[in-house]
Amino acid sequence: MKDRCNARTRSGGNCRRWPLAGGTRCKLHGGASPRAKAAAQRRLVEADARAALAHEGLRPLGDPIIELGKLATEVSAMKDALAARVNALDGPTFTDAFGSEQVHAEVRLYSDALDRTIKVLDLLGKHDLDARLVRVQEDQGRLFQYLVAGVVSELALTPEQTAFVPEVMTKWLRKTAEGVRSNELPAA
Ligand SMILES: [Zn+2]
Repeated sequence: MKDRCNARTRSGGNCRRWPLAGGTRCKLHGGASPRAKAAAQRRLVEADARAALAHEGLRPLGDPIIELGKLATEVSAMKDALAARVNALDGPTFTDAFGSEQVHAEVRLYSDALDRTIKVLDLLGKHDLDARLVRVQEDQGRLFQYLVAGVVSELALTPEQTAFVPEVMTKWLRKTAEGVRSNELPAA
């Protein structure tokens, strides 16, 4: 449910006007300032991202930007798979049993996938969202390094074992980055 502007008025009450779209204040109480408009736009884009996720049947877990990044990978892979099928066709259309020209289902599906990919990439491009995603991943990488360094420091390894740590870490980081199936993970 949308809230009213609620700014204090000169008469001592609260403003009962509705805020501008995505904002928290009305036009008369700063809602139209560049800063308020930018914040409102960001809220609208995030709401849009959540709506796009809901449309794709995914629950937005935690940061919608990270989920949107995963979604971009998925819809782009689907688009490529359909493009390969369209390329394998003799042409975009065929003549059906009643003699009328029909568009192949693959062509329609590819067209839909293309639209969806553009929509998701557009959302990611707005407000530098992809840069934010990279930053989150870098933060997680640094936290992970901190964690591993902490564990290793308490193990009292021999110098030979310690020298082996970077190699083992690289191997497991690579395996993790390649993707881990849920049945390979320890039980929650
Ligand atoms: Zn107001």
